[in-house]
Amino acid sequence: TEAVSQPDRPQQFEGGERDLFSKFDELIQMREGLLASGMEDPFGLVMERVLSPTVAVCNGRETILLGTYNYMGMTFDPEVIDAGRTALTDFGSGTTGSRVLNGTYQGHKEVEQALCEFYGMDHAMVFSTGYQANLGIISTIAGKGDYIVLDIDSHASIWDGCKMGDAEVVPFRHNDIEAMEKRLRRIPEGAGKLVILEGVYSMLGDVAPLKEMIAVARANGAMILVDEAHSMGFIGPNGRGVAEEQGVLDDVDFVIGTFSKSVGTVGGFCVSNHPKFEIMRLVCRPYVFTASLPPSVVATAATSIRKLMEAGDKREHLWSNSRKLHKGLKDLGFRLGTDEPQSAIISVIMPDLEKGAAMWEALLHEGLYVNLARPPATPANMTLLRCSLCAEHSEEQVDTIVGMFERAGRATGII
Ligand code: PMP
Repeated sequence: TEAVSQPDRPQQFEGGERDLFSKFDELIQMREGLLASGMEDPFGLVMERVLSPTVAVCNGRETILLGTYNYMGMTFDPEVIDAGRTALTDFGSGTTGSRVLNGTYQGHKEVEQALCEFYGMDHAMVFSTGYQANLGIISTIAGKGDYIVLDIDSHASIWDGCKMGDAEVVPFRHNDIEAMEKRLRRIPEGAGKLVILEGVYSMLGDVAPLKEMIAVARANGAMILVDEAHSMGFIGPNGRGVAEEQGVLDDVDFVIGTFSKSVGTVGGFCVSNHPKFEIMRLVCRPYVFTASLPPSVVATAATSIRKLMEAGDKREHLWSNSRKLHKGLKDLGFRLGTDEPQSAIISVIMPDLEKGAAMWEALLHEGLYVNLARPPATPANMTLLRCSLCAEHSEEQVDTIVGMFERAGRATGII
């Protein structure tokens, strides 16, 4: 067989078999080009030690973390850790089974109860990740002949859920209420309709006008699913998300969320008041055909969720961090994803991928980790340095971060 890749033509194996990896050649070349310039791999960073929710050791150096989803800083909460340790000792390291067979432990019921109380809803169903929650709920409720109307900037897990369910998928321009209404009006009479929105869009950190959008969706007879992955724990008086903040949570049929952000562990969920919701446990394939979360994970999640109900002070501090960083970066002349801070995500728009990668590396050398986001994950082909704040960042850390941005921005010629 040929061993060396030949970029000009798809690699051929003996017998004329085509290498299925040839479709990745362009990406491989782009990545190799970037690394050949001697720069660090932005997608290969290793956290050698994690000292707190806001500091880790990377490349042997203490680094401030400004690119995690640890919004509420729950990962090192002593009660959360204790709960996980106790469950690990009492229930073992894993369930080795599906929720519908041997994989439902007391802890899974307890975390679902905590979610029902957190959201004030009747039903909660826990999945092994947030990705699977979207995949499962969307593909199960919207099938062949149904219509899904969704924001074009929706998360990959939402798109994948649409594809798996085989419904007609009708995207509309990001946060455009009129465009959404137009799409809804064109749907044939009598068809099932699902509108999918997110509370906070994670690339630019902007919030959806849920109040208006949900009113339009309702008026057009659609059911509504809102992914509140990036707002849970932080936005809204009780941290229930953007729908709570805008006073429309009661009009949402399904809230999707994750344990991998504010909750500080891993897992996904859907909460709902739909009277038939429990049937999902039997018909939703990404729930049925996978192993349930380990007991230690659900115990940490339940403890964290209960603490997030009482986290008003932390929410306040996180808002103050968000405002401070937004102002600091704006004053320095950086182009930001939103005019005002709308969430815990502050996105800094880079002129192009090369400059973005150089800035990312300069920040890492300063001792700051942010997310480098690039197409196809980003809207409008933008390269972004995504900063996500934590309630455990101190005011001094935010000042330090702004100083690091200033030096790196000048060194790379971005400001
Ligand atoms: N929805 C949104 C909006 C997300 O941003 C993410 C993850 N970044 C998910 C769902 C998936 O969550 P998880 O990490 O739990 O799979």
